[in-house]
Formats: sequence, C-alpha cells, structure tokens
Amino acid sequence: MRDRIAAACARAERALEEVTLVAVTKGHGAEEVERRLLSRGQSVLAENRVQEWREKHEALPSEVEWHLVGHLQRNKVKSCRTFALIHSLDSLRLAQALEADGEKHEHVFRVLIQVNVAGETAKYGVASAQVGELYERIRELPHVEVLGLMTIAPYADDPERSRGVFRALRNLRDTLSLEALSMGMSGDYEVAVEEGATLVRVGSALFADDAGPARSEGGIVRP
Ligand SMILES: *Cc1c(COP(=O)(O)O)cnc(C)c1O
Repeated sequence: MRDRIAAACARAERALEEVTLVAVTKGHGAEEVERRLLSRGQSVLAENRVQEWREKHEALPSEVEWHLVGHLQRNKVKSCRTFALIHSLDSLRLAQALEADGEKHEHVFRVLIQVNVAGETAKYGVASAQVGELYERIRELPHVEVLGLMTIAPYADDPERSRGVFRALRNLRDTLSLEALSMGMSGDYEVAVEEGATLVRVGSALFADDAGPARSEGGIVRP
C-alpha cells in the first residue's frame, strides 16, 4: 500500500511526506492490529466509535497516534482528549461541547470539518455551502482548532467516480486557506492522493490476507 501511495504521489508530482496513511482498525482486535500494523511500523491508527476505541487504546502501546474518524456524540467528548485529530466535526453544537471540555482541561482539540460533498441524505457532515460559516464560528472557539476538511465519497465500484467529490473538497479547502484534506478509503485512496489528500483513511484493504509479509528495517518501515 505504501508503494501504491508513493506511485500516486509521483503521478501527481507530490512529495510522499505530504500524505499520512491513517489505518482504520474498526472490527479488528488489539492483537491483530499489533501483528499486522504496529509490527510493520504503522502507528497512526483510527477508530470510528469511541466505545470500541477505548478497549483497544488500553490494550495497545501509548506511542500509537489515535485519530477519530466516525460520528461523535456530544456526551462522549470527555473521552476525546487523547485523539491527535478528530476527522468528524459535523456541527457547531459538537464544537461547543468540545470547547467546554477543552476550556475545563486546558486542552485544544484538533479537528477537521466533515463535509457531505455529494449531499447524501444518509451521511453525516455539513453541506458544502455551510462549511464557510461553520468554520468562521469555530474560529471563535479557542480550544477547537480546525486544521482542514474531511469527506467520505459515495460508494462506487469505480474509484474514478470519487474524483469529482475529492476535487470539490480540495477547492473548498483552498478557499478557506486550510492545510489538511482527509479523503480516500480502501477503494479510492489512490485517486484521493492524486487529488491532494494529506490523510487517507484505509481500513479493510490493510487487513486483506494478501497484504504481504512484514518488512522491518530497524523497526522503521520505509514506504
Ligand atoms: C471504516 C472507515 C474508513 C475505512 O474504510 P475502508 O473502506 O475499510 O477502507 C474510513 N473512514 C471512515 C469514516 C470509516 O468509518
């Protein structure tokens, strides 16, 4: 997968260092995560549910950099200070709940605004037309820092069908002068990298049985 990310970077004339592979571990236990990911030098991990994350977080080494990629309920923000990045900020009310907790504990939450680019009714995320206003409101909150935008492309067999959504998110990100762009999953991460993703969230493809043998060079695996 690192080779494929590197090839996508080369096609887009981007530096490999601009792209972080975020391994989504939902549905896989701590032992499997250790064996398949941590032992290969992949230490940026994500969960989509706080409950499932808690168990794995306790079982895995503290060096893991945890991200949250799924919908967050306001009553769960207290657990979230450990996340290096929350990809799924989808309302002002959630931002206000994070602000209250951050103020109490002198913690600044780093977040991405989740955008429902394609306007799918069953998905979380803010409509593209509302992102600018939400961003302006969150900028008034000193304990919530918006680093960029995130989206989930509509499911499609052909990854090329995600390209327009990714390009739209990138344009939106550019108009806000933000840095981070979280887009691309198992089926379309290469297209996402070509379109400027700085974070790709890959789950199932990393746990497929043809993922290849572990390679290790002094504990650090080079892409
Ligand atoms: C599960 C999940 C992913 C990874 O999906 P795969 O198709 O398994 O790669 C990415 N983003 C979010 C928000 C997820 O819930």
